[in-house]
Amino acid sequence: MMLPDASSAAPCRICSAPVHHTFVDLGMSPLCESYLRPDQLNEMEAFYPLHVFVCERCFLVQLQEYVRPEAIFSEYAYFSSYSDAWLEHARRYTDGVVERFGLDAGSFVIELASNDGYLLRNFVARGIPAVGIEPAANIAEVAIRQGVRTRVAFFGRTLAEEIVAEEGRADLIVGNNVLAQVPDLNDFVAGMRVLLKPSGVITVEFPHLLRLMRDNQFDTIYHEHFSYFSFLTAESLFAAHDLVLFDVDELPTHGGSLRLYARHREDESKPITERIAALRRCETDEGFQRIESYGRFAQQVEQTKWKLLSFLIEAKRAGKSVVGYGAPGKGNTLLNYCGIRTDFLDYTVDKNPYKHGKFTPGTHIPIHPPGKILETRPDYVLILPWNFKDEIVRQMAGIGGWGGQFVVPIPEVRLIAASQG
Ligand SMILES: [Zn+2]
Repeated sequence: MMLPDASSAAPCRICSAPVHHTFVDLGMSPLCESYLRPDQLNEMEAFYPLHVFVCERCFLVQLQEYVRPEAIFSEYAYFSSYSDAWLEHARRYTDGVVERFGLDAGSFVIELASNDGYLLRNFVARGIPAVGIEPAANIAEVAIRQGVRTRVAFFGRTLAEEIVAEEGRADLIVGNNVLAQVPDLNDFVAGMRVLLKPSGVITVEFPHLLRLMRDNQFDTIYHEHFSYFSFLTAESLFAAHDLVLFDVDELPTHGGSLRLYARHREDESKPITERIAALRRCETDEGFQRIESYGRFAQQVEQTKWKLLSFLIEAKRAGKSVVGYGAPGKGNTLLNYCGIRTDFLDYTVDKNPYKHGKFTPGTHIPIHPPGKILETRPDYVLILPWNFKDEIVRQMAGIGGWGGQFVVPIPEVRLIAASQG
């Protein structure tokens, strides 16, 4: 496997311009969801470059497609329902859109990358017809068992035309955290336009590039995420397909996300809110339309790594024990890039039983159920899914009983005392 260099980078995923500006190079990493069984520990592992580029024409921050999506998403370990906070987010979203857009039993809702039905089950419970599209068969099965109609497929223009012919167009198309995983963005957005009723609404959520850069969230970069969007870049992508963004919410999820509301250009029943203009100004002021503004990020990332490693080295020198909490995809980018193995973390824990008894890819840290922490009473618990830190600190408050403390690695290493409520 050859490392890509400036001359071998693929053309831009949106505008096809040649792309040769490095955003950050995180070295070589395994696929972040490829957890290992014990019998795989002595085998060779595939590592791929995590070299991120930024397009100087449309400013899409992007990874090359080092691995085919079929190889990543056909059997996937991520089940949305293992986070209470995410389920609550889905419930609130449903309440909001049902009321705002007057959805009822005569409406039709489609979610792209519907995962285990965590969101659509809220629509089904209200008697609103809904269909999920999910490429991972093992995850779609869970949704179907819970009464959420799901088609196992990758979404694009061809599938959209099929659905229109069979079931008609949608009043609401939802795409949460899927845009980053789409190899052909133009085909995907074209498909959404085909599938949308003349008066319908699209909402998409994705981590906001502005927050990724401000808060050093380099660990949200992994091979499954091909693209990282600013508002301005997303707006130009939708505009190229005659879809207009008419509203935007800034959300705390995944370290700071945007929820965009899009409609057909011809549909003037939904006026464009002031929030759109405000966000456009904010990103313009931050320099998101100048290539030089993207150059600082790589140094911030190195600093973040040094600070985390300094903390861990000091802790180990002082004879302290450190374990992890969580085995999320982002944790695997962090552990591999920083070179953190069982020399620093004795083990990590996760609520997802699919991961128990397995090992983190590349770094081979064993994954146990959360109860393990109460048995071994470590001095420090490093929270890898820092976007759920409040939930985890609440659930694991018991570590305060023996003086244990939480550590959060991002935006930079920080201790959180365990308060025993
Ligand atoms: Zn481009």
